[in-house]
Amino acid sequence: MTTDPSVADEVVSYQRRGAVGVVTMNRPEYRNAQNSAMTYALDAAFAAAVDDDEVRVIVLAGAGKHFSAGHDIGSPGRDTEVSFDRKAALWWDHVGKPGGDQRYAREMEVYLGMCRRWREIPKPTVAMVQGACVAGGLMLAWVCDLIVAADDAFFADPVVRMGIPGVEYFAHPWVLGPRAAKEVLFTGDRFDASRAREWGMVNRVVARGELESETFALAERVAEMPRFGLALAKRAVNQSEDLMGMRSGMDSAFGLHHFAHAHNAEVAEDPLAGMNARSMKSAGS
Ligand code: ZN
Repeated sequence: MTTDPSVADEVVSYQRRGAVGVVTMNRPEYRNAQNSAMTYALDAAFAAAVDDDEVRVIVLAGAGKHFSAGHDIGSPGRDTEVSFDRKAALWWDHVGKPGGDQRYAREMEVYLGMCRRWREIPKPTVAMVQGACVAGGLMLAWVCDLIVAADDAFFADPVVRMGIPGVEYFAHPWVLGPRAAKEVLFTGDRFDASRAREWGMVNRVVARGELESETFALAERVAEMPRFGLALAKRAVNQSEDLMGMRSGMDSAFGLHHFAHAHNAEVAEDPLAGMNARSMKSAGS
């Protein structure tokens, strides 16, 4: 693995457009399903954007028709048994560890840990969302400060079908409100961009053909503000969310999430309860 996203990694691309750093998930053939190669490449691209003094705002995008269909639970590039060069050492390497040790170590690093760090990136981030934004895809949109959604965007967290109480970055009650969070989790159904707007989860809904121009217009507007002021304002809001219980709530939900994985492994020898990408997709989500 290289940590220089400009020379790397086809699974994520990074470019700068004026004051905007653009990080793009680039596995469109798998609806930008996130394998570990992708999450580590995202990590490297975000670091490059933070370290570039010319970059004031970061846009997170997905190549192709879909933002991200979630974590990779079935593509040929699934790499759950691979070690990566861990920069932040959020947890020890998961490979070769027994039982829950392996699962907890991996998910603490590449799912909860990375998402939490990305939420704290000291520059404003804008998610540019089209098509599917499902399960792990929601996590990536939610860590961004602003979300602009195309009118063809759809959202869902269907993992209760696996007996799991929501994705690892459990922001649902804070970004949707408790009532909507329960509906989303209890049904696993899709909700569209206008519903997401109604619930306060997205900032703007725009025509699909105008997604890019509208997102960059917003990013460039934010980029005119003083950099340090933006960083402090972001921190003030994030700290307020945490004072509303988000961080400790996520810790508690992460325990339940791993209890569910362990339960599934114990009764069915499969932490995903026999579900795979195909069955999750066809389950009506
Ligand atoms: Zn999990």
